[in-house]
Amino acid sequence: MQPHAAVPHSSAAGRSLYAEAVAHARRGAVLSSVEALLGWDEQVLLPTAAGPHRAEQVAAVAAVVHGSRTDPAQGERLEELSRLTADGGDWTTDEQATVHLLLRDHRKHVRLPARLVAEIAGACIDGQQAWAEARRTSDWSLLAPSLKRIFALKREQAACQNPDLDPYDALLDDYEPGARAGEVAGLFDRLRPKIVALVRACDSSPSRPDDGILHHHVPRDVQDRFVRDVAGRIGYDFTRGRLDTSTHPFCSTTGPHDCRLTTRWDEQFLPTALFGVLHEAGHGLYEQGLPPESFGLPGGEATSLGIHESQSRLWENLVGRSLPFWEWCLPHARTAFPGVFAASSPEIVQRALLAVQPSLIRVEADEVTYNLHVMIRFDLERSLVRGDLSVADLPAAWDERYERDFGLRPPTPTEGVLQDIHWSAGLIGYFPTYTLGNVFAAQLMAAAERDLPSLAEDIAAGRFASLLEWLRLRVHRHGRLRDSGALVVEATGMPVSEQWLLESLWRRYGPAHGLAASLAPG
Ligand code: ZN
Repeated sequence: MQPHAAVPHSSAAGRSLYAEAVAHARRGAVLSSVEALLGWDEQVLLPTAAGPHRAEQVAAVAAVVHGSRTDPAQGERLEELSRLTADGGDWTTDEQATVHLLLRDHRKHVRLPARLVAEIAGACIDGQQAWAEARRTSDWSLLAPSLKRIFALKREQAACQNPDLDPYDALLDDYEPGARAGEVAGLFDRLRPKIVALVRACDSSPSRPDDGILHHHVPRDVQDRFVRDVAGRIGYDFTRGRLDTSTHPFCSTTGPHDCRLTTRWDEQFLPTALFGVLHEAGHGLYEQGLPPESFGLPGGEATSLGIHESQSRLWENLVGRSLPFWEWCLPHARTAFPGVFAASSPEIVQRALLAVQPSLIRVEADEVTYNLHVMIRFDLERSLVRGDLSVADLPAAWDERYERDFGLRPPTPTEGVLQDIHWSAGLIGYFPTYTLGNVFAAQLMAAAERDLPSLAEDIAAGRFASLLEWLRLRVHRHGRLRDSGALVVEATGMPVSEQWLLESLWRRYGPAHGLAASLAPG
């Protein structure tokens, strides 16, 4: 650190340049939040006949957003600031990181030719239509040509945006900045055999959980009141958000004080809405915990999809499927739903929520087998990007992996390779973030339990503030000034490891299936 008087790097001119760059980034984020609001409205409220005009609105706003992101004047400011802040001076490390990340984003956007952006957008619209039709008729050949084109375009995108990276790494970097496929593959290779062993042990156990007590008729308005109460209780702030209904539940941020959740309802099965809301509220708590004063800057944005998913899975699974949670929740559920849980105990409800059932469909998978579905997709998409696997051979490769990992073979492509929309929507490199989220969630929860010795008692008493405060301090307040790996290491004081996820799964699912603790991996 140089003495203050001798610092030339943060001259008044440098400071004013920084203020201009920050103001530009915030204006861009305000515009993008309009895009987000249009997207939310389309999923939740839009009348069917309004679709074509909405498409025009979206295209008009997207053009303005693109202009802001690729503005040459902002590029010049950021290049200059990058030189000014490079050797520190009295720029803080957060300011240096802000400049570095804004410049990285800017370069990524300007490196992408407008022609390629338009081609990818068109190919993904065609791809999603082809996917819907292929799924409806279970005819792979209807999707194959679109998918071939999308993979080729995404390889081109990777080469433009990040020519120094392996193409798959470049695509993964969009969702999980800083992560590299080689490391992810290493983590998954250690995880896979141990999860397979747990699934087999659960599946062949004579003492399997019965979820019969969860199948009860509960009217939607009664469920609605209950899940709102639970979301508010864990800390979701309804003065800065909402809960609505949509076909596919999601969480959308449309401003620094406006983060909205949606859910779907099943009047015969309460867990659909309850766990959907716990999941989305976990995303919402992360967004509500980002510093509002940094809106539009890296310090006010989520760091990665993996960390986002770690927050949703932590509340949904590590809290929501724990015994302390049901010690608190069951009396409330009994009051809200008279007669429904009359003869049960927290132990019975928790056990009913821990059934493991190998199946072919990812979105219906339980917490344990879910990761196997993800790892299959990660391996296949990586081979497709590398060119080791052709789109034509994908269905056979898919079926063969399901046979190997699950002992199940999809009877039709709709129950196999056609089940997910991701690839046909151009989301390549996205899947691994789901399991990274589970790995990060378990490690964060293990560290929170270590740091908060009374955490289980707090949860059993309906006091969730200690856990939320821990997450706010260790995770939320940093925004994306740290990559996910660095964030988890700093938050937990431990290297990123699959060990915590395995421990968490065995600790809950082992006893629920009557498995001896000695079976758990050491
Ligand atoms: Zn999620």
